[in-house]
Amino acid sequence: MKSVAVIGGGITGVTTAYALARRGLQVTLFERHRYPAMETSFANGGQLSASHAEAWNSWSTVGKGLKWMLRSDAPLLVNPRPGWHKLSWFAEFLAAIPRYESNTIASARLAIAAREHLFGWAHEEGIDFDQRHEGILHVYRDKAGFEHAARVTGLLAQGGLQRRAVTPAEMRTIEPTLEGRFYGGFYTESDSTGDIHKFTLGLAQAAEERGVEMVCGADVHGLQAGEEGARIALLRDGGQETRHFDALVVCAGTASRRFAAMLGDRVNVYPVKGYSITVMLEDPASRAGAPTVSLVDDAAKLVSSRLGANRFRVAGTAEFNGFNRDIRADRIAPLVHWVQQCFPGVGTRQVVPWAGLRPMMPDLMPRVGAGKRPGVFYNTGHGHLGWTMSAATAELIASQVQAA
Ligand SMILES: Cc1cc2nc3c(=O)[nH]c(=O)nc-3n(C[C@H](O)[C@H](O)[C@H](O)COP(=O)(O)OP(=O)(O)OC[C@H]3O[C@@H](n4cnc5c(N)ncnc54)[C@H](O)[C@@H]3O)c2cc1C
Repeated sequence: MKSVAVIGGGITGVTTAYALARRGLQVTLFERHRYPAMETSFANGGQLSASHAEAWNSWSTVGKGLKWMLRSDAPLLVNPRPGWHKLSWFAEFLAAIPRYESNTIASARLAIAAREHLFGWAHEEGIDFDQRHEGILHVYRDKAGFEHAARVTGLLAQGGLQRRAVTPAEMRTIEPTLEGRFYGGFYTESDSTGDIHKFTLGLAQAAEERGVEMVCGADVHGLQAGEEGARIALLRDGGQETRHFDALVVCAGTASRRFAAMLGDRVNVYPVKGYSITVMLEDPASRAGAPTVSLVDDAAKLVSSRLGANRFRVAGTAEFNGFNRDIRADRIAPLVHWVQQCFPGVGTRQVVPWAGLRPMMPDLMPRVGAGKRPGVFYNTGHGHLGWTMSAATAELIASQVQAA
């Protein structure tokens, strides 16, 4: 039986390990934390959102980024200090602008393909992850934003996604708790939400039951691969270990670039920081005043999801500031303000802030496939849509590993 090492226990690593185990391969997953899903797959926006598949590679994003550079509470923030990693990433980002349309269509396809696997696995394994099938509503405060969204709707349709324009009155029927003046919106009934952390833990347990060896608390520091197979060097319980496998799959989020370099590949993932708050709905008025339909406010670059009865998650913004994981008060404040403005009935006494680093490729497309050396594979770089796409890319990579 072929033995495969999976590096990383976030959503991409756990879905990959699970998909490989379902194919009967002998799988070992290495994760440096004590538990899976403790980094970017911990407290994201919760959206399984094919409707959010628009690539960021456009001159309009570049213009906004430049305009917002000096505002610390702006949705998009770039630390102007130059560095090779950031400069090379931005150069490749610009070079991918001509592929904006094709990449948006391809992302929508992946997001739709992922649904079937993810829902099927959750059902089969009995995973409760506060899933909600109430659709996602994109909201626009001005004509320009709405008209841009109409053009994106055409691209998403080419990827197989149907969404419809809605008037402000229809928006209020879809989500009665939403306050504010809007020009219009787009509603995608087929999109859904859920808690990525709960799902990843549930699937990790299911993977273990299917024979996957979960090695947590293992800091991988060396990878080698060649005709004789793959070699993994790690630190665990204060000691060094070396393990051998027939193949390995790198699913290490923002660390994937470093691992790829060890294996002679270039996977230019940049850590694009985002923030979330989890608003604890402590009283009946807050529970009644919080939305159940998931939202995207494109201008504010914020998304929201209701997680179970008692939690309301708001997430977003993008910060290019290297591997910095600090939770900044001036970046959290706009998220709390957004809740107070859009959902005045929701109490904001108990708000849990979080920051995570999106593992983002310059063209916003995940890297799924073989590396240069034999037995080396990647399933990484899912950026702002890792939760949405993970089940589809796990299936893709698992078939490639099995066939190799
Ligand atoms: C604010 C925010 C909101 C978001 N909202 C959404 C959303 O609504 N919908 C959506 O689809 N996506 C969303 N995303 C994106 C999504 O969360 C990510 O794409 C996804 O979680 C990335 O998963 P991953 O497995 O690639 O990375 P991670 O979850 O970071 O997993 C990588 C793992 O590799 C491990 N690792 C790294 N180095 C080593 C080492 N040396 N040894 C052992 N293990 C190692 C890490 O510990 C980590 O657990 C959001 C992201 C952010 C930041």
